[in-house]
Amino acid sequence: SIPLGFFGGIGSASRQGVLVKGSNYLEALNAVKYVVFDKTGTLTKGSFQVTGIFPEEGWSKDKLLEYAAYAELHSNHPIAESIRNAYKGELEEHEVGEYNEISGHGVEVFVKGKKVLAGNAKLMQQNNISAAAQPKAAGTVVHLALDGRYAGYLVISDELKADAAAAVQALKELGVKKTVMLTGDIKSVADSVAEQLKIDEVYSELLPEDKVSRIEALDELKSAKDKIVFVGDGINDTPVLARTDIGIAMGGLGSDAAIEAADIVIMNDEPSKIAAAIHTAKRTRRIVW
Ligand code: ADP
Ligand code: MG
Repeated sequence: SIPLGFFGGIGSASRQGVLVKGSNYLEALNAVKYVVFDKTGTLTKGSFQVTGIFPEEGWSKDKLLEYAAYAELHSNHPIAESIRNAYKGELEEHEVGEYNEISGHGVEVFVKGKKVLAGNAKLMQQNNISAAAQPKAAGTVVHLALDGRYAGYLVISDELKADAAAAVQALKELGVKKTVMLTGDIKSVADSVAEQLKIDEVYSELLPEDKVSRIEALDELKSAKDKIVFVGDGINDTPVLARTDIGIAMGGLGSDAAIEAADIVIMNDEPSKIAAAIHTAKRTRRIVW
């Protein structure tokens, strides 16, 4: 039987905007020693701004942005939304043909009869396209190629969530041994975020399956009684959310798949709610035992 105190604990968590899907997760929170974060949408706002447009010779900024916006017409990725927002013209659906989203890479799509690739350096490499090696501005880079020829890149910037640094600090104070960030984004952006937030370890340019391997490596390293939390928001975080001791999803920004796969949901997307939930778990334990 479930001790009554746990219902109190789940109730008090829910009043703080943290949905705990079972008393076992509340109990497990007492033993959290590792907290692993996704970056985009979890520690950062996930609302990107296009901050630079760098066309290759023979291309204009307007044309590059137009093709990028068309290429991203059907993508739900926060990067895609920012590109569509930056483009001020009309987007006509009938101009977009066969469409393929490549998880952790970008999109491959026919626009006005041309085959467009829009995504990171990995996507360009896979298609044997030599992309600009040294982007001229800091941020996440979206490269574009049209009919197999490199056309330039956009630079996109995200912002840290207001409570991200405090969230990491609070976890340390609650006895978490190590904080880790796993991201598909490039090293320069990932390292800068981790440094600002004082996150202990950072792994960048990961594919969804690499995130799972990282969790498995951590699992082997830790002692049996210690628990790992993973916090994410994206469709491609679902495998890790399911694989970790305690999977936490962002309820507002999070994809339906992530919310479904998670054990705990933070309704208002604030990472500081992780520490609040651990705190509630510790209090609940004192009442139950
Ligand atoms: P994160 O781990 O930060 O949530 P993702 O795994 O969602 O990142 O994506 C990893 C990288 O793949 C992004 O930083 C971006 O470079 C590229 N990418 C993914 N989807 C798209 C898209 N629709 N358009 C352009 N680039 C994309
Ligand atoms: Mg994400």
